[in-house]
Amino acid sequence: MKRAAGFGRVCSLACGLLLATQLPAANHAVILQYHHFGDDTPPSTSVTLAQFDRHLEHLAQNDYRVWPLERVVQQLRAGAELPDKVVAISVDDAYLSVYREAFPRLRARGWPFTVFVSPGPVDRHSPGQMTWEQMREMSRHGVSFANHSLDHAHLIRQGPNEDTAAWRARVRRDIVQAQQRLEQELGQAPRLFAYPYGEYDNPLKSLLGEQGFVAFGQQSGPASHNSDFLALPRFAMAVPYAAIEDFRVKLQTLPLPVIQAQPDDPLLPVAESRPRLRVQLQAGDYLADSLSCYVSGQGRAPVRWLDDAQPAFEVQAARPLAIGRSRYNCTARALQGNRYYWYSHLWIRRHPDGSWQQE
Ligand SMILES: [Zn+2]
Repeated sequence: MKRAAGFGRVCSLACGLLLATQLPAANHAVILQYHHFGDDTPPSTSVTLAQFDRHLEHLAQNDYRVWPLERVVQQLRAGAELPDKVVAISVDDAYLSVYREAFPRLRARGWPFTVFVSPGPVDRHSPGQMTWEQMREMSRHGVSFANHSLDHAHLIRQGPNEDTAAWRARVRRDIVQAQQRLEQELGQAPRLFAYPYGEYDNPLKSLLGEQGFVAFGQQSGPASHNSDFLALPRFAMAVPYAAIEDFRVKLQTLPLPVIQAQPDDPLLPVAESRPRLRVQLQAGDYLADSLSCYVSGQGRAPVRWLDDAQPAFEVQAARPLAIGRSRYNCTARALQGNRYYWYSHLWIRRHPDGSWQQE
């Protein structure tokens, strides 16, 4: 990154060629997702300050380019080539540690980042939330703030006496109001949306799409030209997965070239507990024999390549998924280099009586 900036000042075409050979073009970028920064917040949604410092140092020392999330989305949507090693940093929820810990560290390096904010808790001065004034200060230094719904509700859940039309109207209102509060307080907000809890289904995705949003989940993997722009993947960074070795591997991941994954609606029918996922791929530089899929809380699941004209495989959990959110995470080694192709698929399961997980 430092090297690229230095070249840019002194030359144009020759250096462009030089950079092109040093940094191969890519069709993807890695989007990191953080929540809390500190040692005394829940480990499942926090990185320690020592971990965060190591992450930033690793990015700097290995010439990663930290781009604004908006720019990454723009390039991917346009189908434009990106340099390899592009990273965007996102943070969900406007916790105070974002202002106190993440902001000074990222500002010192001149790196942009995006915070997904639920305006409701900020307006109510909920404990541990940043204030609008702090966010205005951050936005003057290039931090962007985007929509995380008004009150961080489980948006896919229809109320007991609510029909689909009423659900749509309520959720649309929630998203519009959140956007308005961001714009009133901060002047502007990109049309980017992070699903609370990383939880979405097809009807919710359609609602976001109709309103012109690009939306982000919490299933892992690099985002690519072929990603679903209403469910872009991000790598969640929290104590259990934030060790530097894990971080290094995730930054280097490549997008498994998925053409189609069926069924594509993450919300499972009530009677379904072990979804069979069928994934169709483009041919590519991945080692088919090395494909492995893991199920949340269960470990490795059996994978079967299908005898189709196009490469395709099926994977199914060996045991029923837990109630709530689960994922199938599939990886395959690249033919060259020590890198992994990666794809993650979200599932949401209700209790057999149709009720939702308590959380
Ligand atoms: Zn959140």
